[in-house]
Amino acid sequence: MAIIEVKNAKYHYRQGENECIPAVNGVSFSIEEGDFVTLVGKNGSGKSTLAKLLNGLLLPSNNGTINICGYTTQNEDTIYEVRRNAGMVFQNPDNQMVATIVEDDVAFGPENLGVPREEIATRVAWALETVGMSEYRNRSASKMSGGQKQRIAIAGVLAMRPKILILDEATSMLDPKGRKEVIDVAKKLNNEGITIVLITHNMDEVAESKRTIVLKDGALVFDGTPRDLFENKALILDAGLVLPPVAKLNSLLQEGGLALPSGILFADELVEGLCSLLK
Ligand code: ADP
Repeated sequence: MAIIEVKNAKYHYRQGENECIPAVNGVSFSIEEGDFVTLVGKNGSGKSTLAKLLNGLLLPSNNGTINICGYTTQNEDTIYEVRRNAGMVFQNPDNQMVATIVEDDVAFGPENLGVPREEIATRVAWALETVGMSEYRNRSASKMSGGQKQRIAIAGVLAMRPKILILDEATSMLDPKGRKEVIDVAKKLNNEGITIVLITHNMDEVAESKRTIVLKDGALVFDGTPRDLFENKALILDAGLVLPPVAKLNSLLQEGGLALPSGILFADELVEGLCSLLK
């Protein structure tokens, strides 16, 4: 079943009386439940705007439609179902805390939804456990690392029991350790059935996803596997992307004359390729 269905969605920002800035230009795609999709494109290509269209923070400027778990984002009566089911985590870990104490912060979403008290306590305990932050439940988040803060932000979204988690450059301000913590949580949630949409500039994260969508000037220019994307050098260049480090190294070694196979994305594949050349 398609859990996300986008049909011909357009969005332009209004500036002043007459100026329109096009951000998303007629995009269509659907995502199946349980998928792990990365959304990439250079700065200004429309990724954040598309993410906000997905959870109803913005509505299409045209007659395009967006359906989340069967609910259209254009229906005011069910917009909470859309926001609850498609939870978002943003770039800056410091801008997302609403309470000082971790468990109060995580409880904020379900409290707003009117969830009964005991159920809130169960959800907060489960959400913090899921992101590996249970032992911090009574602490203040202010002195925590970026990775820990982002995991708390994810717990806050999980407490609303979403089916989809949208991470809008949620790892881009983190150090490698924090980045890994957040990606590991996203993978774990995906293994438990949650659909992940990860907006990122990190090509290693793209390589590890099941599917990737590329935007350029608000238009969808690629939708397929990371391996197929990174094989397409012309598209990579045109969309302002780069190869993941291992794929780049493989490409340089090929240019240097080594008969390595194409499509290598991970270190173990490159090691295997090099070993087979030495046999
Ligand atoms: P990305 O996430 O890929 O960097 P965005 O969705 O943020 O792209 O931006 C797409 C386009 O919309 C860009 O041209 C950007 O300058 C413009 N834009 C984004 N947010 C606003 C805004 N609040 N007001 C006006 N223009 C905006």
